[in-house]
Amino acid sequence: MRRLSIYFLVDVSESMVGTSIEQVQDGMATIINELRTDPYALETAWVSVIAFAGKAKMLSPLEELYKFYPPKFPIGGGTSLGTALNFLMDEMDHSLQKTTIEVKGDWKPIIFLFTDGNPTDSVDQAFDRWNNKYRRHCNLIVVSIGDNVNTQLMGRISDNVLRLTETNAQSFKEFFKWVTASIKTSSVSVTDAGDDDVKLAPINGINLEKVDSEKPCVVDENFVVLLGRCQTTDKPYLIKFAKRIQKSEMMSALFDLPQFVSSYKLVGAYPINGVEYKELSETGGRQQKINTQELIGQPTCPCCGNQFGMVICECGNIFCVGEDAHSKCPWCGLEGELSQVSGSGMDLNRTRG
Ligand SMILES: [Zn+2]
Ligand SMILES: [Zn+2]
Repeated sequence: MRRLSIYFLVDVSESMVGTSIEQVQDGMATIINELRTDPYALETAWVSVIAFAGKAKMLSPLEELYKFYPPKFPIGGGTSLGTALNFLMDEMDHSLQKTTIEVKGDWKPIIFLFTDGNPTDSVDQAFDRWNNKYRRHCNLIVVSIGDNVNTQLMGRISDNVLRLTETNAQSFKEFFKWVTASIKTSSVSVTDAGDDDVKLAPINGINLEKVDSEKPCVVDENFVVLLGRCQTTDKPYLIKFAKRIQKSEMMSALFDLPQFVSSYKLVGAYPINGVEYKELSETGGRQQKINTQELIGQPTCPCCGNQFGMVICECGNIFCVGEDAHSKCPWCGLEGELSQVSGSGMDLNRTRG
């Protein structure tokens, strides 16, 4: 039987933490449940999920629909798209049946690449390999989650670059319905017509737009994500801030023209799995800096509930502090009494996702 393989290549970098990764996880489960009720999909579709952050990891090897179980997504540091693409190509070499004189191979696989940021590794080698050997034999659909992705860069590997313009729960739900519908239509097309060019469902009415990837795009950094460690449980967590642009009354008065300043407002703090995080994060790598004066809001610790989830130690790392005045940094072991809890204009190490 000729299989229609569907690969999900999912960015699990730090900026995905919180709603985005939860929505992707729920969305995957919905897709699978929906497809299982579709006779065409059930007959031809095989599914695989690969996650990538600083490194790539197979979450679910290529499997028949009825046997497939949606995975739980980890979070890691970095967005190594080059590494992820190479991982995918190696995996396809290994798993897909090629057409030979004796057998008709699998249909062109469909790859959905979901990403919300820009590559932190060098992509040229992987892009060349993709364009020279794989592109013609695959249907790659790149979906930018939010407007933080360099879509012009993505246009180098696919003619199908789309952007999910809103990232709330409803928007994600409709988006995953669209993914499901596109897979259904494509499985009908291969079965009935033997045509394996992807058939994307209409995008009108949902917060999804086709991007003209020829056009240059300005990419802004929309999120700041910091790594903290719980003093009570020693567990890691991520603190996420989203950019907002506001009119500054003081500056506007000064220049007699509207002036805008940007700052980052707290979205939330989320516990993460430390082992998976380490496994999927880039090693080495340049640290970015962010000034704490640009950050607005202080989370409570998502691991133990301590009141202050963002205390900065002398070592530069972040940990949580509760009622007890005596504290010990879980990163460097420094002990002491805390006099001032909030950082005032101190540079922190920023994560890379
Ligand atoms: Zn804590
Ligand atoms: Zn410390």
